[in-house]
Parts: sequence; structure tokens; C-alpha cells
Amino acid sequence: MPKFYIATTPPAGLQYDRLFGGSFLAAISVTSQPNLFLTHPPDARVPSSIMAQISPNKVVTITYDLSVTDENQEKVLVESAEEDAPMVFLFGQSGLPEEFENQLNGKQAGDTFNFSLTPEQAYGDYDQQAVVDIPKNVFEIDGKIDDEMVQVGNFLPMADNQGHHMQGKIVDIGADTVKMDFNHPLAGMVMHFDGKVADVREATREELDHGHVHGEGGHHH
Ligand SMILES: [Zn+2]
Repeated sequence: MPKFYIATTPPAGLQYDRLFGGSFLAAISVTSQPNLFLTHPPDARVPSSIMAQISPNKVVTITYDLSVTDENQEKVLVESAEEDAPMVFLFGQSGLPEEFENQLNGKQAGDTFNFSLTPEQAYGDYDQQAVVDIPKNVFEIDGKIDDEMVQVGNFLPMADNQGHHMQGKIVDIGADTVKMDFNHPLAGMVMHFDGKVADVREATREELDHGHVHGEGGHHH
């Protein structure tokens, strides 16, 4: 049985910024907009959407509705990435399920998609062993428990004694222990994606070196 620690002190009520493809640890804070205009004057830029097809090392922008199938086999909408906050990712290095990328491979801007992923193709089966009782004193900061932080439903970044970082959801608070669920929130679920490719462009050298997207919808640093 591993020992658990709080990895950092997260803001109260920390939630996934996005259920699918959201940062599994703390949310990225967006602090500044890079000046894209100076480095990419408008007339120097080929409209990438005319030609580019989704393939490794392309920056892909999509909108989607994500539904899951519940225990009654009803489809329930759990998340929408709309045009004003689309999902942007580096194809082939996204950390998203491989089958999700396979389904988008070869598509171009304007193409729609509609497919399902089984738990096996995505976040695995729900694992009862990943629900763990943790001594309450682990959650003490300066000798006391922050009630804002330690609340049922909150996600906290945790680490075990081998240095593995993981996000846990508080599911129950007992007298001496806090029950945390370390399953991915989409574990055990069949996911249905219905969406559209908004843009496909080449990644920059810097994006490839960093392994993530910069600018709109990506990292700002
Ligand atoms: Zn970067």
C-alpha cells in the first residue's frame, strides 16, 4: 500500500478545466498573450487550412460534443468544446488516447467526425483498487485541515511515496480518513465524440521541441 501526500496546495474547488484532454494535474494558468502579429504578419502566412491534413506533428484545432453511455445505456452529454474555446493539440504527442488520434488521422479543416471509444481504447476500466482511504493528517497544512480544500467532489493533486503524481477526487470524508478516487473521471465509460475539425497547421520548431502547442488554445510562456 503506497503512502500518499498532497503534492501542492491547490486552490479550493480545483476541478478539471476540461474533462477530456484537460490537464490531469493542476490547470495551466494563462498569463499573457504572445505578440503573434510581429512574428507572423498576415500576408506571410499560407492559410494552412487549405492544404493540411491531420498527421503527426500538426497542430489540430477541433470542436466536439463528448457524450458517455451511462449504466442505462443512455447517452449523456458531459462536455462541449465550442468554437470560442476549442481543443487545440499537437497530433502524435498529445497524450490523448491513441485511438482518438487514429480516428482523426487524415482529416482536414471542415471535416466532421463521429466515433466512439471503448474504455479499453481510452481510460481503462473503473478500478475499485484505485479508491483509497488516506489518513486525514496527510491533508493537514500547518497542523490543520483546510475545509475549503478538503471537500467531497474536489480534485487534489497528490503524490505517492514513489514520487508518482496523480489527481485524486475526494469521494468521502470520514472521522480519521479521507476516501479518494484516483480513477480518471472517464474510466469505465464508452465515450462518443461528435465534432468538427476547425484548423490544421504545421507545428513550429519550438512547439515540436516543447511537445505542446503555443499561442491560442495552448501554452503561453
Ligand atoms: Zn512550450
